[in-house]
Amino acid sequence: MEKRISIALDGPSGSGKSTVAKQIAQKLNILYLDTGAMYRATALKAISLNIDTFDEEGVKTFIDDIDLQIKYFDGTQHTFLDGQDVSEKIREPHVSMAASNISSLKCVRLKMVDMQRKIAQSMSCVLDGRDIGSFVLPNADFKFYVTASVRVRADRRYKELVAKGHNVDFDDLEKEIEQRDYNDKNRDFAPLKQAEDAIYIDTSDMNVEEVVSKILSYIV
Ligand code: C5P
Repeated sequence: MEKRISIALDGPSGSGKSTVAKQIAQKLNILYLDTGAMYRATALKAISLNIDTFDEEGVKTFIDDIDLQIKYFDGTQHTFLDGQDVSEKIREPHVSMAASNISSLKCVRLKMVDMQRKIAQSMSCVLDGRDIGSFVLPNADFKFYVTASVRVRADRRYKELVAKGHNVDFDDLEKEIEQRDYNDKNRDFAPLKQAEDAIYIDTSDMNVEEVVSKILSYIV
């Protein structure tokens, strides 16, 4: 691909964005940036410092100097916090809720958005998140809003976590997804919302291949 392009893929938790984004990036041979991993790593940092994830003054004590790095090897994104690869640790269920909480803080979003814009300026990429098309990259070349019913999203997350050996209760997971949706949509600063010019895709009755080919049909 000659021209540098950016693709924004937004949507709520468990909508399948990351799986789809990874495949699109692979097919187009461009970078995939999982912005949720950055909020997750920030939450992990707060947890390790015993700082409440809603305590903005506490979070401000570390956010400007956070040692958070995104590296790519073995074909995947690895998230490093204070020099440690935390890619697996940030997927633990308790980190999901903490990430949702901490992502509502303006100081956190400003820092993450700044890092995301720098990456997107330097190379072609597909970014998955909540506010990419509406706030991070309002001039992205392509914008998609990918969603599915709460039940379908909880089911996908449940299977993913069980496959990784986590012991999770389906009803708890469904409630957590609802709570994260609520947090993401109702925060004051850069909430989850569909950008006006984003293409809406409901994936409830679609498999990954179908979603990927639908998205690619707009791009290539
Ligand atoms: O996508 P993922 O579930 O890994 O994201 C973790 C949390 O980070 C989400 O619940 C959401 O609150 C937050 N997030 C965000 N903005 C993004 C990406 C993720 O607020 N661009």
